[in-house]
Amino acid sequence: MAAIVLDGKRIADQIHEKTRADIEVFRTDFGVTPGLAVVIVGENPASRVYVTRKHKACKSAGILSKVVELPETVTEDDLLRQVDQLNDDRHIHGILVQLPLPKHINSNLILERICPVKDVDGFHPTNMGNLVLGKEILVPCTPYGIIQMLEMSGIGTDGKRAVIIGRSNIVGKPMALLLLARNATVTICHSRTRNLPEVTREADILIAAIGQPKFVRRDMIRPGAVVIDVGINRVGTELVGDVDFDEAMAIAGYISPVPGGVGPLTIAMLLHNTLRAARLQKAGS
Ligand code: NDP
Repeated sequence: MAAIVLDGKRIADQIHEKTRADIEVFRTDFGVTPGLAVVIVGENPASRVYVTRKHKACKSAGILSKVVELPETVTEDDLLRQVDQLNDDRHIHGILVQLPLPKHINSNLILERICPVKDVDGFHPTNMGNLVLGKEILVPCTPYGIIQMLEMSGIGTDGKRAVIIGRSNIVGKPMALLLLARNATVTICHSRTRNLPEVTREADILIAAIGQPKFVRRDMIRPGAVVIDVGINRVGTELVGDVDFDEAMAIAGYISPVPGGVGPLTIAMLLHNTLRAARLQKAGS
């Protein structure tokens, strides 16, 4: 039997609607419109597409959206100063610095400069540390979106065997922590993992966040498993995931497509996090 396709767009729309309604209530209660600043450095075409999408999504959710565009040649000091200004701006509740940054800039230094309560990407060491401690304050958007996808599709995690391929700070590691907090038994794989297919075939929930087109083949999937494809790879004019979709369809129980799977959820959770950041700042003021 063919796998059930997890419609990320539909789930994201539901989250978006709820966030929009919650923002309306927040504005009525406090007279404040949540504001998000997205900083983009240089001309990376993919980054530009993401920033435009985020800007549009903010506007439709009732979030004040500011895009700060800086040239590729911006110095680290100037970028730090820009982050400081946004940290001090009381109309801005969330700050996102679009990655990747040019090579001459230390990304960690920039991300660590963002005030933790404005860190809507959840990458600041304080927010990561909270996640390790089981406190979900501002959680990285992509793995948080995947949790919503599972929960809203009625897929339980309790006692399940989850295998994540990829150990990045933005997807793999926070994904593992979120699943662990929801009582899954979690394995993280990476490029040095031995006998990878043997490990992935044990997964009830298999999450691929690798950045290699159609890497996960049929022989890596346990029959009936839930397969979540985080990858976004451009192959010619086509966008493909890290999972061979057709092969996964034939063996998995559930599969998230690319595009239209995890991607829309990442943006939905960014808006959710912006409202959460505004609430945190209101509570702290
Ligand atoms: P990174 O490049 O930071 O990490 C990739 C991970 O995959 C690394 O841990 C790497 O291992 C592992 N890996 C690479 N090759 C192999 C292999 N052959 N076998 C096993 N593991 C391997 O990527 P990101 O986490 O940032 O992103 C992963 C993918 O997800 C990309 O396609 C990206 O575009 C996409 N993405 C999608 C988002 C969305 O909204 N849908 C958001 C963020 C990312 P090692 O550590 O050993 O090098």
